[in-house]
Amino acid sequence: MAEIRLEGLAHSYDGGKTFALNPISMTFEDGKAYALLGPSGCGKTTLLNIISGLLKPSHGKVFIDGKDVTNVITDDRNIAQVFQFPVLYDTMTVRKNLEFPLKNRKLGKEAIAARVEEIAGLLGLEDDLDRKPAKLRSDLQQIVSLGRGLVREDVSAILFDEPLTVIDQNFKWTLRNRLKRLHLATGVTVVYVTHDQTEALTFADEVLVMNKGSLVQDGTAESLFLEPQHEFVGYFIGSPGMNFLDVEAKSSILTHNGMEIGKAAKEGLNGSYRFGVRPEFLIPSAKSGLEFKVDRIEDRGVFKLVHLSKDDFKFIAKTEESYEAQVGGKANFSFDSERAFVYDTNQKAVSTVSPSSEGGN
Ligand code: ATP
Repeated sequence: MAEIRLEGLAHSYDGGKTFALNPISMTFEDGKAYALLGPSGCGKTTLLNIISGLLKPSHGKVFIDGKDVTNVITDDRNIAQVFQFPVLYDTMTVRKNLEFPLKNRKLGKEAIAARVEEIAGLLGLEDDLDRKPAKLRSDLQQIVSLGRGLVREDVSAILFDEPLTVIDQNFKWTLRNRLKRLHLATGVTVVYVTHDQTEALTFADEVLVMNKGSLVQDGTAESLFLEPQHEFVGYFIGSPGMNFLDVEAKSSILTHNGMEIGKAAKEGLNGSYRFGVRPEFLIPSAKSGLEFKVDRIEDRGVFKLVHLSKDDFKFIAKTEESYEAQVGGKANFSFDSERAFVYDTNQKAVSTVSPSSEGGN
């Protein structure tokens, strides 16, 4: 088990013209499960491959348990990595594929057999142990590949690169839970790359949200949802994402086209900002708040998505299933002052926002 520390890590694939990974310094604590979450091309795999040693960073250092491993080859880092697509020996049976990493470590025959049975049981591969991977469906092949990554008990960390991409939607959920159980049982440090927020939020203790090569926020699923410190986190996490509106601040009073939206808790804000509030925290209110036109109501069974418009902007509110309003009519919505934010031109949250007492209409 290991602590992984990154110090000023950055990477360019084109000799410094552009950076796939902007400088990042952070510590993955021993025994925790982390998810690297972000859209395609944001640098997740680049970061993972630098940690595993498949890629040498253009700048910075990687430390495992305090030892500088930046120039240490993958084999000597004692890390297991599982890729998006199966990496298996086709000439060997599933059993032999699973045994292989253990035989390399010179484990005894009985210990190897017991561990292979255990992992096969965890992944539901018991009936396939004596088959060749080529004879298995592609999702089962990937599960064998997962097994190869999980089979060694002496690894410092396990790195997963979108391991469930080719797995059937229903089985994905089961597998994710089994991986989580395995993590809790072994306490090995895990770094899990995904672009799927549900996967990240349900699997990891801590989620690192990345965008355009930079780490924009890290925290628990709850903190990313309740306190998005960067506009990208508001937009990318949550379904639907945050509502945004350009606002002007004058002594912390926020207006949009002259209409008062709210007051920032931070004193002395002046200039251009963006106001953001998640659909969950736009609250129907009898008279106070902003008056919107109700464009459409989507009934999602356990909640409703209320599509609202006002002048030149649109918001979505996520209400209780019992919410009723006339489509085409007017409805007032206020917002939770702990859960509405104002973002600066660098997209960083600078303050929470309280609704205007006079309603701003
Ligand atoms: P995905 O989810 O699509 O794999 P990602 O978040 O893992 O995306 P990376 O694969 O790390 O992102 O890619 C980050 C950036 O680096 C992208 O712009 C990508 O095109 C570029 N890139 C990745 N690998 C190489 C390479 N070998 N040579 C040149 N550019 C690369």
